[in-house]
Amino acid sequence: MKPSSRAVHAGRHLEARSPLAPDLSPASVYVFTDLDDYDAVVRGERPGHYYGRNSNSNRQMLERAVADLEGAEAAVATASGMAALHVAILTLAPSPVMVVATRELYGGTAALLRQDLEPLGYEPHFVDLTDLDATRRAVQQAGLVIAETITNPLCAVPDLEAIATMCRERGVPLLVDNTFATPLLCRPLELGASIVMHSATKYLGGHSDLVAGVMAGDATAIGAARTRAARTGGILGPFDAWLALRGLRTLDVRMTRHSENSLALAQAMRSMPGVARVHHPLLDESPSRGVASRLLPHGSGGMMAFDLVGGRDAVQRMIRRLELVTFAASLGGVETTISYPEITSHRSMTAEERAALGVGPGTVRVSVGIEDPDDIIADFAQALGA
Ligand code: PLP
Repeated sequence: MKPSSRAVHAGRHLEARSPLAPDLSPASVYVFTDLDDYDAVVRGERPGHYYGRNSNSNRQMLERAVADLEGAEAAVATASGMAALHVAILTLAPSPVMVVATRELYGGTAALLRQDLEPLGYEPHFVDLTDLDATRRAVQQAGLVIAETITNPLCAVPDLEAIATMCRERGVPLLVDNTFATPLLCRPLELGASIVMHSATKYLGGHSDLVAGVMAGDATAIGAARTRAARTGGILGPFDAWLALRGLRTLDVRMTRHSENSLALAQAMRSMPGVARVHHPLLDESPSRGVASRLLPHGSGGMMAFDLVGGRDAVQRMIRRLELVTFAASLGGVETTISYPEITSHRSMTAEERAALGVGPGTVRVSVGIEDPDDIIADFAQALGA
């Protein structure tokens, strides 16, 4: 089946009299009548569940669906994207190493590296992964590399294929945060990543109504991640798993529409008053255009950004005037939202650090939704006085 069909069906095997929509199973524990049977289920020799922290039918359906879509042998779902990152990092690097990460890394991941892992001996090292020479030098020293398919907020696309080759040559594991692209647009494991992870809070769920994470990879790595997630306890609850699977069913149509809308808005934004620069990986002038067209042939999803002349005051004026579009510090929902990196994702950085990334007081990140593109464009146009 094609990925669009797999998104609709993956993770479940329907038989006569199966409920078409999955039952929600909130049970924390399961009943057994035979000690050998219990033992076999715990050892994984027989199918079934015994305790909700270890496994649950709703979580298992979601995990199987994500594994299928990512082209992975297995997946494990966690309480949030951060829980997935924590478990994935400790699985790929169980003892302290130098961790080379993209310099635009999501702020929460950077904080995890600096505030939780650095005190344990891990050495975070941030590089521009779109600079392949700098990346090659950094990979020589690395014990783990962390990349994002599309960076936040300026939507650069590093050459994951080239980075995976460098990592493989040095025997360094590569962890890819595929939150912005989803497996419908990019499958990093096929490019050579060791583990791929998502904040399922974003596009996989897609409706801004759950917090969840998931990681996928080969059976050995995910087996280790699963026992670590069960041990440390940050596993996903049944209802959020049920909601995430429900969201996943429409992933293909949503990502297609997000991709079309973000490109339409980016193109229209170029000529709006006060807009100094538009960041979208598939615009002709984007430095990532070549890599993005190769790695994201079906579109780049809903993320884009723009720089407004007049800084924070101009952004505040625009937010007051927007009618359809709202300010909300997340992304990936069906509705168009904007975020202001200076006080959201990049607030822990100094103004100089943000400036080095190209993020200024006029930078606005947009998570373009699935509304009619004319309505989204018209709302920004009226808010900017076009
Ligand atoms: N990775 C990326 C790219 C994100 O944008 C986020 C959250 O914004 C996370 C990871 C963390 O995910 P969560 O908020 O589900 O823990």
